[in-house]
Amino acid sequence: MYRLKGAGYEALLVGGSVRDLLLGREPKDFDVVTDARPEQIKQLFSHCRIVGRRFQLAHVHFGRDYIEVATFRARHDGGEGGLTENGRILRDNVYGNQEEDARRRDFTINALFYNIRDFSIVDYAGGLDDLNSGFLRLIGEPEVRYREDPVRMLRAVRFAAMLGFRIHPDSEDPLRRLGHLLADISEARLSDEVIKMFLSGYAVQTFELLRKYGLFGHLFPQTERVLAEEEQGFPHMLLVRALENTDKRIAEGKPVTPGFLFAALLWEPVRLLTDKYRADGESPAYALQAAAHEVIGRQTARVAMPKRFTIMMKEIWQLQPRFQHRTGKRPVRLYLHPRFRAAYDFLLLRAEVGEVEPELAQWWTEFQTNDEALRAGMIAEAAVAGDADVAGEASVEGEPQTETRKRRPRRRKRRRKPA
Ligand code: ATP
Ligand code: MG
Repeated sequence: MYRLKGAGYEALLVGGSVRDLLLGREPKDFDVVTDARPEQIKQLFSHCRIVGRRFQLAHVHFGRDYIEVATFRARHDGGEGGLTENGRILRDNVYGNQEEDARRRDFTINALFYNIRDFSIVDYAGGLDDLNSGFLRLIGEPEVRYREDPVRMLRAVRFAAMLGFRIHPDSEDPLRRLGHLLADISEARLSDEVIKMFLSGYAVQTFELLRKYGLFGHLFPQTERVLAEEEQGFPHMLLVRALENTDKRIAEGKPVTPGFLFAALLWEPVRLLTDKYRADGESPAYALQAAAHEVIGRQTARVAMPKRFTIMMKEIWQLQPRFQHRTGKRPVRLYLHPRFRAAYDFLLLRAEVGEVEPELAQWWTEFQTNDEALRAGMIAEAAVAGDADVAGEASVEGEPQTETRKRRPRRRKRRRKPA
């Protein structure tokens, strides 16, 4: 900012960083705005890349980090084919002045500038008042602004959850009516936004708000259908537990993967479809595989998911029935599977909500802490206790397993390798 200033340009800090600093929170990143054009910015910094096709921005690199430097922009008036018939904005590539740049932003608290010239906060939209009273409020006419960019509905929920702010009634009202507009947003952009929401450290609150405003179903329609049917049951619980764990891990600075979370979000639809295919006579393994494939296919048509996540989800699901096998070489083989840890964490969730016996989860917890000799002992004990492979596929059948779980004797089908 000082270098821009030295060259005679305006340079201000804007957006989330100003908001977070004023709230005493640690900003995630810093955004700078200036009246210099991208080419002029580039001339001042040796490590500067111009990005963006529609609207050019400068990324000024410092080692592995970069700071986004944008030129003041104005809100497009929507004329000359600038809007879709739903009111979505197609162009926002007009330069403007500082005040116009504030007004094109989403929320009042996101439109504050910090001016290094006199260390002042510049507030064109009433953001300071809202910051002090804890209100999240769209700039301008809320419905028009949501229609311009429906992702702002998801941002409203994310910021409200993250900051513990109330969405101002004027900005809250259209949320319940406009969720369907998310259908116009690309799967890739929704994916970015969903990941940001669930990895914000406030996933539980975000989830509750998404459901409150009827937005969740536009992102995860298959999950919404199950939740709507079984509000108090364990699908809801498993999901909330997974979100709680994620928030806790983030608070502790531990790594989290969206793959695990998505596996939890879609588990119930997968389970139900697996049951259906099994009822149709498919083998347990095939039923689960087909269900996983189908549920992921439908989901990614809505919200894109990188392949590494969908592969992980399938592995987590497909390892679940294998936890039932506690005899012979199978426990060790499962233990050595590269996805064992995530699948085991998933098993713990299922045990917590009563979907599998707590004793089973306990067994696997001990199995990991023991040394090789003790593990061999556990496997032998399991064999004596008659813990054969019979219970193998029970875990993906509909009913939660209780102490009275029935063990149906099953003839083992052996598939012969073709000669
Ligand atoms: P954080 O980075 O903590 O998630 P942020 O407020 O910095 O929050 P960014 O996505 O980094 O959010 O965007 C930076 C700024 O750009 C925002 O503060 C806001 O002023 C503006 N902005 C971002 N997305 C939109 C949008 N969809 N509509 C209008 N303004 C937006
Ligand atoms: Mg930011």
